[in-house]
Amino acid sequence: MTDPLQHLTPDEVEQWATGLLGATRAIHLAQCADCLAAAERERKFFRELAQLARLAPSADFADKVMAKVRIPTPSGGLEKR
Ligand SMILES: [Zn+2]
Repeated sequence: MTDPLQHLTPDEVEQWATGLLGATRAIHLAQCADCLAAAERERKFFRELAQLARLAPSADFADKVMAKVRIPTPSGGLEKR
């Protein structure tokens, strides 16, 4: 059961951006500027990723995405195990 007045979760925002969100939840976007702004940002991000995927050779692409996505750890030592 989902309440149409409830804000979208980050998961739902991602589903909307990839076209997978159910219509009942998508209705919320028409009523909530906050969620709509978040959803538009997410969709732009996915569109840019898709463009990168088309332009870049695949092996290279994974590196580039990881470079963007990787969160710097304060303690460092990402490579060490
Ligand atoms: Zn909302």
